[in-house]
Amino acid sequence: MNISIIGSGYVGLVTGACFAELGNKVICADNDSKKISCLKKGVVPIYEPGLEEMIRLNLKKKRLKFTSSIKSAVKSSEVIFIAVGTPALENGEADLTGIENVARTIAQNMDGYRLIVEKSTVPVETCAWVKKTISTYVRKGHKFDVVSNPEFLREGSAINDFTHPDRVILGLESARARQMMTSLYRPLNRPILVTNIKSAELIKHSSNAFLATKISFINAISRICDKVGADVKEVAEGMGLDSRIGRHFLHAGIGYGGSCFPKDLEAFINIAGKLGYEFGILKAVRETNEEQKRFVLQKIKDELWIIKDKTIAVLGLAFKPNTDDLRNAPSVDLIRALVQEGARVKVYDPKAMDKARGLLKDVVFCKDIYHTANSAECLIVATEWNEFKEMDFSRIKKALKRPLIVDARNIYEPGLLKAEGFTYIGIGRGNE
Ligand code: NAD
Repeated sequence: MNISIIGSGYVGLVTGACFAELGNKVICADNDSKKISCLKKGVVPIYEPGLEEMIRLNLKKKRLKFTSSIKSAVKSSEVIFIAVGTPALENGEADLTGIENVARTIAQNMDGYRLIVEKSTVPVETCAWVKKTISTYVRKGHKFDVVSNPEFLREGSAINDFTHPDRVILGLESARARQMMTSLYRPLNRPILVTNIKSAELIKHSSNAFLATKISFINAISRICDKVGADVKEVAEGMGLDSRIGRHFLHAGIGYGGSCFPKDLEAFINIAGKLGYEFGILKAVRETNEEQKRFVLQKIKDELWIIKDKTIAVLGLAFKPNTDDLRNAPSVDLIRALVQEGARVKVYDPKAMDKARGLLKDVVFCKDIYHTANSAECLIVATEWNEFKEMDFSRIKKALKRPLIVDARNIYEPGLLKAEGFTYIGIGRGNE
């Protein structure tokens, strides 16, 4: 099939590269011309394992092209995916300006039937607006269908998630759209669920909100564990073995972050409010998450007393491992709070250093774990990169001024670190 993807970020690039890999002819478009000129040379501006290789291979095989002309992408493809960003506005509402712009450009440039596939995460009823917008601006009465096809990939394992999804959700309302979308996804050989459009839109927001709820739930449990000396990892394991609950997303820590959960939760609370429903559960999930970040800071203060003028090492900046994405990363809030309290903060991340330089002021960027730990009074692990799980503890102990580890992701065994001579502070590991 001839496919265009409008919006060449994490989702657009992975979608484009994977569909090209499956043998389709794909054009990835973006209104950021700098990004497009890098991509044309095979230089991928984000870190995502395996993506650059896949893009280069498909550029070479001429199955993948890049353009900054949305018009030409619309003219040359029958299937058009919308994968632009939908960031949160100040009031929490999703900013759908990009979606509206793209819908209008599609309408004004389509010269025959088009299947418009909404892949960005959007509030329920957005596809109805896309349909209305296209109907308003389309010329010569060209026919079209709108499909909701939310994306569930995770940064860091995006290619595997895209090609092996638990399910493909297709919200649609015509036989033609159904036939085209199912043949596009059939090669993946994964379960396909066809629903109405509004249900598909709600599946995405409901799934992310539910996952965020699991995280806040286990974080709340971690608070009780700390008070009574229980271990939240044991509690989570015991809960997770119940197949009705499952073990995923029951990891206590510094709270969720990233480009999706915080903004999608806000957007869901906002759209529910507009529809006349006050989403109390999700408001509590959000508050528990904010509290958890403050709680980690409090744990550090409880140990160090005065933060001012102390050197503090932070390992991990990305909101999770295997990505360089810093959007809403809990580490960033923590570091800013420490800097505000007057700490000298040293930081290191295996992949997110370049992006962090533009975001974090008044911190020292270090070249590796040991350089970061050098002369620090406390070492905080804020992202669970494998590199941190495997570090040399005797070297770390020698480098630190004081052997204190705050494990904000619960990646270490408290007993082992204590045996190595560290003071260990985890989340819900039994130390209030
Ligand atoms: P991103 O910010 O990485 O990429 C968005 C791209 O869209 C940017 O390159 C931007 O330049 C481009 N863009 C914005 N407005 C445009 C316009 N009018 N015309 C053309 N291009 C435009 O965002 P992302 O992480 O890829 O997310 C895209 C959507 O997918 C969001 O709705 C997000 O919530 C959703 N999503 C993201 C993930 C994830 O893990 N990142 C997973 C599932 C769903």
